[in-house]
Amino acid sequence: MYTYNFNAGPSALPPEVLQEAQAEFLNFQGIGASILEISHRSKHYETIHQEAQQRIKQMLALSSEYEVLFLQGGASAQFSMLPINFLTKGKTAGYINSGAWSEKAWKEAQKIGEAVVLASGKDKQFQQLPNLQVQNIPEELVYIHFASNETIGGIQYKTYPKVGDIPLVADMSSDIMSRPFDASQFSLIYAGAQKNLGPAGVTIVIVHRSLLDSIPESTPDMLNYAVQAANQSLFNTPPVFSVYMMNLVLKWIEQHGGLEGMAARNQQKADILYEVIDSSDGFYKGLAHKDSRSIMNITFGTESSEKEKKLLLELEQAGFIGLKGHRAAGHLRASIYNAVPYEHCKALAEFLVDFQRRNA
Ligand SMILES: *Cc1c(COP(=O)(O)O)cnc(C)c1O
Repeated sequence: MYTYNFNAGPSALPPEVLQEAQAEFLNFQGIGASILEISHRSKHYETIHQEAQQRIKQMLALSSEYEVLFLQGGASAQFSMLPINFLTKGKTAGYINSGAWSEKAWKEAQKIGEAVVLASGKDKQFQQLPNLQVQNIPEELVYIHFASNETIGGIQYKTYPKVGDIPLVADMSSDIMSRPFDASQFSLIYAGAQKNLGPAGVTIVIVHRSLLDSIPESTPDMLNYAVQAANQSLFNTPPVFSVYMMNLVLKWIEQHGGLEGMAARNQQKADILYEVIDSSDGFYKGLAHKDSRSIMNITFGTESSEKEKKLLLELEQAGFIGLKGHRAAGHLRASIYNAVPYEHCKALAEFLVDFQRRNA
């Protein structure tokens, strides 16, 4: 049976990438050992590490003012690493609370220092992006943090908040490299790789060099962006296999039209699914407000919880996996990251239409 993989993360990887990794798993480029068995200080690994950094720089047209870091601990570790580096005594950071992930980031920051919410979507059940009023932004914030795509609620920014001179920080874990964007408006971007870029284990951090000077020397080395940057993320053993896989995924993105290609495909995939939801006469309901809909995570429900249970069961039997909504949001969620093919979204759309015909 064919599996249509709509998992939210870790999630589908391009089959070509999995095959390439499999083919050179035992004997990497003729060295007689696996990439997992050699030093992270070897030429072979260093080449991979630098290639991946280079690809990210090129794809996002980053100026030489930016450092690209490969860290561990997932995006969740960034929730605390960010304030540990910058939210020092007497400083205040601003957070936009648009859903489960940005709320977690804000809660972690409060353990470190003064973190205030500038706009919240909580009263709208996180189904619509909150509106950041410029007059509500205090002066002298050390940074403003937001999540570009809320993976659980299924809402996504199309254009990013305008915050003037305050450093803007984004958690892009679930939509990085899914579309082109102007990276120069950000001071720091972070993303766990396991949604759009590869397997779990590596977190990308893109940081503007101007921020590095302000980091207190007392910051522990492993949690210090400046130390990690000075060592090209080779301060200690990096997650070599995750970086290797990510490099293959980045190459795959380049070969498939780059970020423009990804954006066009992702939009088509989202459109075909939202179209089924919107033309179902209320049989299906999109959970996110139309103006905030994500093209990465499509959250929806049906008329009744019985039908929803039946639908989930039938989907699984037909080979569609990963469609159960997050426990915080319930209902269903189709995660359609870069590596999910259009054909799989079309198959899901057709299944939903047929299910409605049989159960309306
Ligand atoms: C998945 C996710 C996280 C958590 O990532 P981990 O790597 O598991 O810590 C954080 N933010 C967003 C937006 C996510 O989608």
